[in-house]
Amino acid sequence: MTSNPVLVSKCSLHRWLPPGCRRAGAVIGRSLMTVYFSANQPQIVKLQPAHRAGINTRLFAPARNHRGNRRACRRRARTIAMARLVMKFGGTSVADIDRIRNVARHVKREVDAGHDVAVVVSAMAGTTDRLVAWCAAALQKRHIFDAREYDAVVATGEQVTAGLLAITLQDMDINARSWQGWQLPILTSNVHASARILDINGAEIIKRFGERKEVAVIAGFQGLHKETGRITTLGRGGSDTSAVAVAAAIRADRCDIYTDVDGVYTSDPRVVPHAHRLEKIAFEEMLELASLGAKVMQVRSIELGMVHNVRIFVRSSFDRPEDIDPHGSPPGTLICDEEEIVEQQVVTGIAFSRDEAQISIRQVQDKPGVAAAIFGPLAEASINVDMIVQNVSADGKTTDLTFTVPSGDYQRALDVVGKAKQTIGYARLDGAADVAKISVIGIGMRSHAGVAAQAFRALAERAINIRAITTSEIKFSLLIDAAFTELAVRTLHSLYGLDQAKP
Ligand code: ADP
Ligand code: ASP
Ligand code: MG
Repeated sequence: MTSNPVLVSKCSLHRWLPPGCRRAGAVIGRSLMTVYFSANQPQIVKLQPAHRAGINTRLFAPARNHRGNRRACRRRARTIAMARLVMKFGGTSVADIDRIRNVARHVKREVDAGHDVAVVVSAMAGTTDRLVAWCAAALQKRHIFDAREYDAVVATGEQVTAGLLAITLQDMDINARSWQGWQLPILTSNVHASARILDINGAEIIKRFGERKEVAVIAGFQGLHKETGRITTLGRGGSDTSAVAVAAAIRADRCDIYTDVDGVYTSDPRVVPHAHRLEKIAFEEMLELASLGAKVMQVRSIELGMVHNVRIFVRSSFDRPEDIDPHGSPPGTLICDEEEIVEQQVVTGIAFSRDEAQISIRQVQDKPGVAAAIFGPLAEASINVDMIVQNVSADGKTTDLTFTVPSGDYQRALDVVGKAKQTIGYARLDGAADVAKISVIGIGMRSHAGVAAQAFRALAERAINIRAITTSEIKFSLLIDAAFTELAVRTLHSLYGLDQAKP
């Protein structure tokens, strides 16, 4: 066919070639090459830089190209380069040994396809809850435990899963090694129980990819504070953040978040049966969804993904591993830059949170310095205040001020404001812990007026009272009675046309 033949043996590239096709893409050394095969033999006869031959290097080829030509797309999907992947598996995906074996088969599929793989695992379902409960049960005299010891306890859940998955992979003849946070190391701040990742050394993992094609199985959720040498944890749901941080550290082509749903939905599918999966969602929208209650991804993982430009793909671990084409387009949701989303809806999703509590300060003096007198002590007590509503007083003397705090901090917040009564000057303190915050999110709101007004009308028709409202450029949140949460979410979901499944 051509000069300068290079024989690279019967490598796995051959499998990528559809019948009658004689060309494929591959990474050889560090460069992406087009590989030409001679007519009858599975041996490579020519290498040429891929870009000249127009080889597509996308990790997931679209199901159809713009002309709806499925075959062309399928052909393109097969010409995908070997990639460096992070695969993260959440608690339900590793709940028992059978599921861990299932996870190992997912990993095997990607390894067999030629990809370099780092796996990040959570603790087996229910384990972290149990460990947290043990910490609380261990206290008899004190009310708060030492967060350093809490971390020492709760970090163990992920250690077990990482070891078990490494054993299972080895049992399938896959070269694998487990890594705890302190071993890599994953360096964090020393805010125990809610530490931030500062740095990850991915060099050893990358070295082992090259030298022995070794799969790294990393315990999520945990890290090390370098100066004290103590184990830290990243806050509940923190394995998502470990995964995205590892992906950034090893410069992965993609970070796959395998979970018990097959992607990010327009709302929690457990509450809204008509919710549908989003093909793509912008980082900014996902950040809002996650921080306003959609627990499918930890908030910090999205922040990290945004900063380091990690392509995050949320997908199901419950699909049969062998039915998935590692070079195909599996169902899932890609979290990506806004520019990549062609058809932007006005409203993308609806989140809700029942972890809210409302505090109203009645007849507070309407004079400079009062807000500081209220929110200063709350900040000092590390209580996060979310929504704040203050009326303009009619008589210029007193007014009502309402704000929300996380329900876990409700009692503490009442105590703090109660103690500052003299300084603040108010008549009465009212509170409610049975409230919920419903949030409507969409980048399209930037350019559409009247989106929130539609919601007020729809909720009024259902006799749902709105206690407080906050808005920002791409979302608005409404505080309502918790008893109406599901009704309100479903009402707004259909109001904004999210009920129809996309074709
Ligand atoms: P994992 O254990 O894999 O980390 P999580 O339980 O943390 O999984 O997150 C997955 C869950 O998030 C789903 O089972 C689903 O009920 C919930 N969830 C909430 N909002 C959404 C949403 N908008 N899209 C998808 N899942 C959501
Ligand atoms: N195991 C931890 C938790 O349950 C971290 C995680 O699963 O992401 O919160
Ligand atoms: Mg999670």
